[in-house]
Amino acid sequence: MIERFFRIEHLGQPRYIVERNGMRRLVDGDIFGNYNIGAPVASDTQRLLAPVSPSKIVCVGLNYKDHAAEVKKPLPDEPLIFIKPSTSVVGPDEPIVLPENVGRVDHEAELGVVIGRRASRVRENEAHEYVFGITCVNDVTARDLQIQGAGYTRAKSFDTFAPVGPCIARGIDYSGAQGLTVEGLVNGARRQFSSTRELIFGIPALIAFISANMTLLPGDIVSTGTPAGIGPLNAGDRVTIKVEGVGELTNTVRSTDSIDR
Ligand code: ZN
Repeated sequence: MIERFFRIEHLGQPRYIVERNGMRRLVDGDIFGNYNIGAPVASDTQRLLAPVSPSKIVCVGLNYKDHAAEVKKPLPDEPLIFIKPSTSVVGPDEPIVLPENVGRVDHEAELGVVIGRRASRVRENEAHEYVFGITCVNDVTARDLQIQGAGYTRAKSFDTFAPVGPCIARGIDYSGAQGLTVEGLVNGARRQFSSTRELIFGIPALIAFISANMTLLPGDIVSTGTPAGIGPLNAGDRVTIKVEGVGELTNTVRSTDSIDR
């Protein structure tokens, strides 16, 4: 059974709802611990929040064969990882704010793995037990800063640079030979279209590699890298990330000027 966990504001509090067979119900308790399924929720008119508040997002650079070819880099021998901070996370429909004086800012469509259990030194063949589900991540990147050598952290950690959502989908076969499609669209035009079949390091291998380095906590996200087709975002754009089985994550892009300080 496929379940989709959304987080909404309900009576002033963040609450999860779960969608099964087209029916949405409130979740009582901790989705990473014990919970019960509660009352039906009337409609899907609620504003969605980011589906998790991760302690960290661990991202993987250069993890698609088509993207490595696009940037003319050799395939890496082991995953290249970096962290986006919790403060960069925004939910569906929240603005991505372009910082001043950083030059080009790009979208990166990615499949995000939401960790369900504390994970330390996990074996590759047991990694699936630590996965709660999958989501869409936009690894927004200040490309000029990155290329100039400012470092991945500075280029990728601005506030609003980690849209996540719209839900966490469980029960999707993310490691099957078929692969899942990963897409990035700007103003409705498809810029990125690939499949997890193009992944250099698969999800179990990434969880084993990262959890040998640092403990992953429930709600943390492993963002698995972006396929070919990265490109710039401009103020006024609407950027959509789609991961097969999860849905669509859309955010608008704004300049700093349009934000009250
Ligand atoms: Zn990325």
